[in-house]
Amino acid sequence: MAQAPPRRFYLLTSPRTASNLVIRILNLPNQPSLLQDTKYEYFFGPVLGWKFQHHTIGKHVDELSEEEKNELKHSYQVCFDALSIQVDTAAPQRKNMFVKEHVGWLTDPVAETKFVFGEHSTCEQPWTIQTSYASTHTALNETILPDEYLKTWLPTFLIRHPALTFPSIYRTTIDNEGQQAARDDPAHVLEMTMHWSRTLYDWYIQQEYLSQFNAENGAHWPVVLDADDVILNPQVMIRYSKVIDLDSSLLNFAWEAASSEELEQISKIERRMRSTISASTGILKEKASAGLSIGTEMSKWETEFGKEEAEKLASWVRLDYTDKAPDLHKPDSTTPNAASILGLPTELIHIIVDHLHPVDRVCLALTCKSLASAVLSAPRLCPTTWSRFNDQRYSWLLPESYSLILRLAHGWIPKDKLRYCWKCHKILPRKAEYFRKRLVYKKNPKWDAKLQIPKSTWEHMSKRDRYKHLIEMWCGSPLEDSSSVYCDFCREKNPAAPLIYPVVCPVCMEQELTFLWKIPRKPWFRKMLGKIFVFILKTIGVVIGLVIGVLVWIIRTVFTQGRKGWKAICS
Ligand SMILES: [Zn+2]
Ligand SMILES: [Zn+2]
Repeated sequence: MAQAPPRRFYLLTSPRTASNLVIRILNLPNQPSLLQDTKYEYFFGPVLGWKFQHHTIGKHVDELSEEEKNELKHSYQVCFDALSIQVDTAAPQRKNMFVKEHVGWLTDPVAETKFVFGEHSTCEQPWTIQTSYASTHTALNETILPDEYLKTWLPTFLIRHPALTFPSIYRTTIDNEGQQAARDDPAHVLEMTMHWSRTLYDWYIQQEYLSQFNAENGAHWPVVLDADDVILNPQVMIRYSKVIDLDSSLLNFAWEAASSEELEQISKIERRMRSTISASTGILKEKASAGLSIGTEMSKWETEFGKEEAEKLASWVRLDYTDKAPDLHKPDSTTPNAASILGLPTELIHIIVDHLHPVDRVCLALTCKSLASAVLSAPRLCPTTWSRFNDQRYSWLLPESYSLILRLAHGWIPKDKLRYCWKCHKILPRKAEYFRKRLVYKKNPKWDAKLQIPKSTWEHMSKRDRYKHLIEMWCGSPLEDSSSVYCDFCREKNPAAPLIYPVVCPVCMEQELTFLWKIPRKPWFRKMLGKIFVFILKTIGVVIGLVIGVLVWIIRTVFTQGRKGWKAICS
């Protein structure tokens, strides 16, 4: 039987995902299927070093000088060439390759800029490293490597709960750079997210070439390794080692702590990054996320980093939770209630959204940021779905925007504190002092049936009492909203609801009841009005002149004809 061609295995990780532990267990230097005496990780580390040195982390790609761009591109290329040399050495020896890399270190600076500053923040084309392959760069590929090159690897994604990795990243920043630097470290926005792993995972699951390797060794590519499983279940690593053609009998589950001489040989930052693994003699089970709750973690972070920084961490963890692949998801560990909709993966929220009327989608999206991002990212939502709701030009044509307002008014606002005014379309408080400051009080409001008070009573009220009545009508009304129109839900609840005059806010009411038309004080308007008046007068003058002329002519004709006739009779 012909021997299978050598394989390339990529372990794609993020910082603080227990990747050093995985490498330690796999015992790579003693595995006969792999190339010996080589580097197994961080080929792109020097790029990060360059960015640190030139303070370009988190910088907009358009702000880099041409020289900086060229140097950075060159740095990526040098790293890639070092990796290629190793790949080229392994192939003729029929050895497999196993390389670990942080996905963030492979990320294209243009994709980083778009992630931080917005999709349309730059016109720069994606950067792509020169390889011996074609250089296609499809949308989900946010790395500096072309599609064709990524397809030469079999990918494994190592993931760990963000409530453990993010504070761990924060802690190492404090130790390496100090407390103040950690507070406004521009790298955190890029690091405190699973976006890069998630997007590359999404790219890989679309690649058909992986299916031909699926049956081999019981693997299903891309493989997802959860740090929790690595820590709690040794069987997982034994199975994984078989998937990647390693000898499982050589795996390491216990080792000696690193000696001080060994620690002396590595740099200070690296020493900090490896501190857990160096001090350990085996797997530390307390590093797993089982039983983790954000609330408890949050109070620990507050003590450790301060309230403001703890809130920042919590928001990164929460935002990230909607950005994870479904199989990376464990709703019971971060959300307080396992049945909460927030615990559902984005894909399931998309299915729910698909069944909703567009108005209800808006209402769902308005409940919180993570649901908003899930709703907005739902497929089959195109601009035309929304234009009927947000384009005021068509509001008279299509009733949808009205039904949206209605549902917003009936739905989620706390009715005891806020009410919706159907006239100015504002949601306003039920507080008297809010309106006392905003009313003009210049004129005395006239009576109207909407006031729900007899005309005679109104006539006897002082101006002050009339204004008081306008405010009380709004603030004290038992009605939940002022539209008097019921949505389907509310109509079912109250089938015999009486039809009454809608209550509008005191500001709208004052405008309506004190309205009196006057000639605007604009000179051009008055001038034009004068001209029209003169024109009308002249026209009337001409018409009157004509009528008088015709009458005089008729009288004269009748008179002369009569005289002629009279003379004829007499003579
Ligand atoms: Zn109003
Ligand atoms: Zn309603």
